[in-house]
Amino acid sequence: MRIAVLARLADVGEAPVREAMGLMAALGGEAQSLILAPAAVAAVAALGEVRLGVHPGLEDPDPEMTYGAALRLIGDSRPDLLLLPEGQLFEMIGARLAGHFGMSAVRDVDEVRAEGGEILLRKGAYGGKANVRLRARAGVVAGLRAGAFPAADVGPQTPVVEEISSLPEGGQERRTVRDTSGDDLGRAKVIVSGGRGLGSREGYEGLRPLAGLLGASLGASRAAVDEGWASPSQQVGITGRKVAPELYLAIGISGASQHLSGMSGSRLVIAVNRDEHAPIFEAADIGVVADWYQIWPHLQKALEG
Ligand SMILES: Cc1cc2nc3c(=O)[nH]c(=O)nc-3n(C[C@H](O)[C@H](O)[C@H](O)COP(=O)(O)OP(=O)(O)OC[C@H]3O[C@@H](n4cnc5c(N)ncnc54)[C@H](O)[C@@H]3O)c2cc1C
Repeated sequence: MRIAVLARLADVGEAPVREAMGLMAALGGEAQSLILAPAAVAAVAALGEVRLGVHPGLEDPDPEMTYGAALRLIGDSRPDLLLLPEGQLFEMIGARLAGHFGMSAVRDVDEVRAEGGEILLRKGAYGGKANVRLRARAGVVAGLRAGAFPAADVGPQTPVVEEISSLPEGGQERRTVRDTSGDDLGRAKVIVSGGRGLGSREGYEGLRPLAGLLGASLGASRAAVDEGWASPSQQVGITGRKVAPELYLAIGISGASQHLSGMSGSRLVIAVNRDEHAPIFEAADIGVVADWYQIWPHLQKALEG
């Protein structure tokens, strides 16, 4: 079975790349390659003897450039299984690559097995409330759920790096501006997320000092995004990002199921809400029934002191 990993650190961080590598090693495979954006190479330079194809276009915000770079990197040796850590790269080009190579595209995958030439996958459904098992014969582009696979235990060898640097045709003149404000959510260890309960853009912006004190990334509910306080790339939930931080702080978020499904991978959840019946408390390890604006000055003092 030919297995390849396609990744760029900007979207996913080192841990998901290592998880994809771990899965690749566990499945075994005759032709294994790790194909990356250049920025990712240094971080995985210890991964050992795998082929690293490197293409600057993979980091380009323009989907055309990224897609062209991915095609060049994959070349003629179409893999049976192309692993992409779940993130913007998968969303941008996963389905398109699958179409090009006549493969299936499956996202939110948390289990992969190879059996008798077939690929068996498990993926989340209904916002994580159920799992679906799939069997594929014709090849799969799989978006791997962050934290679902053990990371590769890698040695100190030097990888074989194959630089493929010419740019895909036609892409050079195109440029789009990409919203990068939520890029780090996927690998954040601490996330401070704000919802409509913050009441205003200023209220949402007021979370920045807290995020700064905790070294956290800023997330948001869809309501906060719809209000224009946060960018769409910061939205956590079924139609936003799936996150798996060590600590998730939900402030002024009611806890709708669509939001919960995006944060369900969090290790510790602390919720602040003034409504003691808010559903977020069902999902929280620590619930604080309080008006955020009443407690924030005290919390700030405690954290700064
Ligand atoms: C198809 C579909 C997809 C969706 N996808 C997503 C998604 O990906 N992500 C997502 O988040 N939502 C999603 N939603 C929307 C979701 O259903 C909710 O509407 C949304 O999550 C509510 O956001 P919220 O909790 O910020 O706002 P609200 O539900 O309005 O909750 C605000 C909360 O703040 C509390 N509050 C108010 N003032 C204060 C204060 N001063 N201090 C403390 N607490 C206070 C209130 O008690 C309340 O519980 C989706 C909906 C649909 C139909």
